[in-house]
Amino acid sequence: GLAAIDCVLKLLNPGDEVIAVDDLYGGTYRMFTRLFEKYQLKFTFVNFDDVSKIADVITDKTKLIWVETPTNPLMKLVDIKAVVEIAKGKDILVAVDNTFATPYLQRPIDLGADIVMHSATKYLGGHSDVIAGALVAKDAELGEKLHFIQFASGGILGPHDSYLVLRGIKTLALRVQRHSENGMAVAKYLETHPSVAEVIYPGLESHPQYELAKSQMKDFGGMVSFTFKSGKKEDAIKFLEKVRVFTLAESLGGVESLANHPALMTHASIPAEKRAELGITDDLVRLSVGIEDAEDLIADLERAFS
Ligand SMILES: *Cc1c(COP(=O)(O)O)cnc(C)c1O
Repeated sequence: GLAAIDCVLKLLNPGDEVIAVDDLYGGTYRMFTRLFEKYQLKFTFVNFDDVSKIADVITDKTKLIWVETPTNPLMKLVDIKAVVEIAKGKDILVAVDNTFATPYLQRPIDLGADIVMHSATKYLGGHSDVIAGALVAKDAELGEKLHFIQFASGGILGPHDSYLVLRGIKTLALRVQRHSENGMAVAKYLETHPSVAEVIYPGLESHPQYELAKSQMKDFGGMVSFTFKSGKKEDAIKFLEKVRVFTLAESLGGVESLANHPALMTHASIPAEKRAELGITDDLVRLSVGIEDAEDLIADLERAFS
């Protein structure tokens, strides 16, 4: 996945500017700020909730807008069509990290994006046994440019890894349907639980961008985050120690359910202040809901709560 992002950034020249959504996958943020700033690319991070803010920071040097939707772990959505509209008629590429949604739920090129990026490590592979990435370009000319960079840089997947991704894709539709059913079942269960404060899932009417989720996505996927009424980190940790069907681990998108504590695990490298600003609190738990029986998953959560 990171090699795929690296490939997109190498389309640019020193002095070019990139506008990116401020709630980015940590590895993307690290690559942009700690690697490519060194090569004189300039990055501006903006909250894409109000897309007019993007227009405010576009300059004649802006060459790429980097979108991620839904984001991790707070499931914020970006209106892809609206971003494309802002870039229209300018020499600016729109790239979308579509890892969380998968091509089954969301098709950014149909919405006008130029490049789609996937961490195939997650849903495309689907079995937590391969590290891979993919880029999809709007047209052959752009595809050729990306292919040359991949070839010249050496970010090439081995045959067995390629085979694992191809095999995973064969069941992508079936898996994501089940991830979405289970995601919804778990989100609804959590919503009714007395220990739970907030459930963050794009398929719930309580999600601030529920209408956008319905129009932009076919269904809502398997990623669900929630917080505790107590607001206590200890409660989140105790809960994570007690789940048995959910495995405590980073990563996501595999057939088996995973649970993660973003503040201590996936997002630990973000300074505490910045985490607080983003809303990644110490009592936030992120679930990657797998394709097991929903009743078993809910029973597991219930046991952990009690
Ligand atoms: C995991 C992930 C990546 C990075 O992909 P790797 O395959 O781990 O290199 C990029 N974006 C998102 C949203 C991810 O979840």
